[in-house]
Amino acid sequence: MFQSSDTQRGRSPVASRAESPVSVIGAGVAGAWQALLFAKAGHAVTLHERSDKTMTQSTSYWAGGMLAPWCEAETSEPLISRLGIRSLKLWREHFPQTPFNGSLVVAHPRDRADFERFARLTTGHKRLDAGALNELEPSLEGRFREGLFYADEGHVEPRRVLPELHARFAAAGGTLKFNNDPAEDDLDGVVIDCRGIFARDRQASLRGVKGEIILIETDEIKLSRPVRLIHPRWPLYVIPRGGNRFMLGATSIEAEDNGVSVRSALELLGAAYAVHPAFAEARIVEFGSGLRPAFPDNLPRIAIDKHKIAVNGLYRHGFLLAPALAELTLGYVQRGVIDNEVMQCA
Ligand SMILES: Cc1cc2nc3c(=O)[nH]c(=O)nc-3n(C[C@H](O)[C@H](O)[C@H](O)COP(=O)(O)OP(=O)(O)OC[C@H]3O[C@@H](n4cnc5c(N)ncnc54)[C@H](O)[C@@H]3O)c2cc1C
Repeated sequence: MFQSSDTQRGRSPVASRAESPVSVIGAGVAGAWQALLFAKAGHAVTLHERSDKTMTQSTSYWAGGMLAPWCEAETSEPLISRLGIRSLKLWREHFPQTPFNGSLVVAHPRDRADFERFARLTTGHKRLDAGALNELEPSLEGRFREGLFYADEGHVEPRRVLPELHARFAAAGGTLKFNNDPAEDDLDGVVIDCRGIFARDRQASLRGVKGEIILIETDEIKLSRPVRLIHPRWPLYVIPRGGNRFMLGATSIEAEDNGVSVRSALELLGAAYAVHPAFAEARIVEFGSGLRPAFPDNLPRIAIDKHKIAVNGLYRHGFLLAPALAELTLGYVQRGVIDNEVMQCA
């Protein structure tokens, strides 16, 4: 169990319920990891999901799936790195096939100052010259004079890993109910609310931060890892997917509507073109957007009120943080361990 200096043991209202059944609401990445770790720890867990198994209504469906605690330190609090680095261990342990082959940050000469700033604000990278960059990603030969390589970072494909999380949960003895919006009476034992942006009825300070993406397809370019392009407005990236597909992401807009604007599409496609002009010939497969659930400080919270626990505010780090948050919740329920940086007790 993960314990930091901000972690302490205490008696909790649910600490005596180490054998309690558990009801998790929401099968996005937050709820799926909660359900999996509780089921593996021997609890009888039911995971309730309102939508069908395609999960297209969840934010998780739209995510990039980057597991990048060092890159994210550019714009995030140290808490994100702490939980993120712990999560990487859990991804490795539970999903050993997860690619941990690093991520790359590149910039064009005009964005050189921002590139240096990114390098200064982050750790865990080494600088690559053009030759080393080409060795790592041959398709990028001649495109950039240098790059930053974050060797220990990983990435998952959300649309593949979510069903896999659900299957692992079922294999661990859990019960997964799709098309199920449970009433209070249907919920048994400890209740863990992981409804993401849909939990605003209980967590009024939650807001949605829109992220737009475009999926493209080409066999002209091969990439093995996410490539971030330094950009004056947003951290734009290209992530390789199976089947010669690439995800271009992502904007970050304080808005809660759906869809992709012309301006965002131009910027995302422009970023791909800037990474490699051959992307101009790629086929556009899909446009889409998701709402990142965020509290005002953009930090995650585990809010505890007797046997009800709400895990939310994963913002732009859901895949990065979900395993560590699940481990913390489990530690609280089983042993009353409280992490003061993340947990709020009513
Ligand atoms: C474009 C984009 C790119 C991103 N890239 C990354 C990235 O690279 N790395 C990273 O770590 N994070 C990334 N994120 C952030 C990540 O996607 C979110 O933090 C994460 O998906 C939030 O997960 P969640 O489980 O809290 O919410 P959700 O995935 O939205 O899951 C909540 C679930 O609860 C269900 N639900 C709601 N109400 C009920 C109910 N009453 N009963 C039953 N079920 C209910 C919903 O149907 C939904 O499936 C990205 C986000 C976006 C939008």
